[in-house]
Amino acid sequence: MTATAPITQDVLTLPRKLAEGGPINLIGLTRDQLRDALIAAGTPERQAKMRLGQLWQWVYHWGVRDFAAMTNLAKEYRALLAAHFVIDLPEVVTRQISADGTRKYLVRIAGGHEVEVVYIPETDRGTLCISSQVGCTLTCSFCHTGTQKLVRNLTAGEIVGQVMLARDDLGEWPVQGAPKDETRLISNIVLMGMGEPLYNFDNVRDAMKVVMDNEGIALGRRRITLSTSGVVPEIARMATEIGCLLAVSFHATTDEVRDRLVPINKRWNIATLLEALKAYPGLSNSERITFEYVMLDGVNDSKEDAHRLVDLLKGIPAKVNLIPFNEWPGAPYRRSSGNRIHAFADIIYKAGYASPIRTPRGEDIMAACGQLKSATERARKSRAEIAADAGL
Ligand code: SAH
Ligand code: SF4
Repeated sequence: MTATAPITQDVLTLPRKLAEGGPINLIGLTRDQLRDALIAAGTPERQAKMRLGQLWQWVYHWGVRDFAAMTNLAKEYRALLAAHFVIDLPEVVTRQISADGTRKYLVRIAGGHEVEVVYIPETDRGTLCISSQVGCTLTCSFCHTGTQKLVRNLTAGEIVGQVMLARDDLGEWPVQGAPKDETRLISNIVLMGMGEPLYNFDNVRDAMKVVMDNEGIALGRRRITLSTSGVVPEIARMATEIGCLLAVSFHATTDEVRDRLVPINKRWNIATLLEALKAYPGLSNSERITFEYVMLDGVNDSKEDAHRLVDLLKGIPAKVNLIPFNEWPGAPYRRSSGNRIHAFADIIYKAGYASPIRTPRGEDIMAACGQLKSATERARKSRAEIAADAGL
């Protein structure tokens, strides 16, 4: 939505627009960036801190999109803002609601690209699964997103925008004057949608800073989980610069199998990855690393695998999240049987690690883990290409 406040005479005498290309979208700017932009737009420096605080609250606490509605700002100042800035979110193209209440949004971003966002309501929480890239440069052989050829990094604004548009749809912005409601529909965020978040590090970091900021959306860092396929050089940085929880797509217990499932393993193998995880700053029992493990029939689901996994985890405060494989058209794998999954979970659990089995959600609308793939790039990989990637 674009602000529509009229441009008054005053504005014409103000500094020219900041960017050649027109007004700046303020969604996704960090506090520092927004402060600089406000000053460049003509805000006197001594007022910048206060204006920044006011604007930030309107946008991120109250969810207001129209500068004209920011009533504690002088009329002229609102006009200045409207002349230099817009408050733009990605556009929701379609919204599907699953029989189990899961919502999937197909979202269009600049350039006509599309990404998917999923909201998963549960009894004790509501999790929003957001995307960090259009497609993914990695080609994990069990992941639908990995078959999408076209890839582009999302901007910080496009990442924050996913959270905001979901709050719009769920009606979650606070209402002025109403009693404070502490229950959150979106209580948790997982960076587990499309893309490898650590390959878009800066934008993901900036976006999460905005989402965590106490004067706005204010989601605590322990309510956000970033999942990586194992981009080892960025892992330590993640702890210090973002500080949210870490999940790792582990999925195999030998390099031979992991090479096939998660090809980034050829670059940073299991030993290297584990070393980085053991050295992870801030690792503790209260902030364990989640090891994600997709259960693929006959590929990685044996009892031997479970025992090997336990050995590998030694010395790392960890929990293991077992994900029954979610099928997609042309997928070269099948889901392990319930018995296998339970037997596997049991071995891990008896060794002292939590080993929950993730319930697939939103399968009827292709919203489950690893099923996301937008039609941005319609040319799909052929079955032969998918099979070749999987080493079949
Ligand atoms: N790129 C990041 C985050 C997105 S994927 C990563 O790979 O970690 C989120 C989780 O879903 C990852 O653990 C991923 O391996 C898993 N996943 C991908 N495809 C899946 C599928 N078809 N069924 C079940 N889980 C899948
Ligand atoms: Fe990319 Fe993650 Fe899918 Fe692998 S599992 S292709 S890293 S989105």
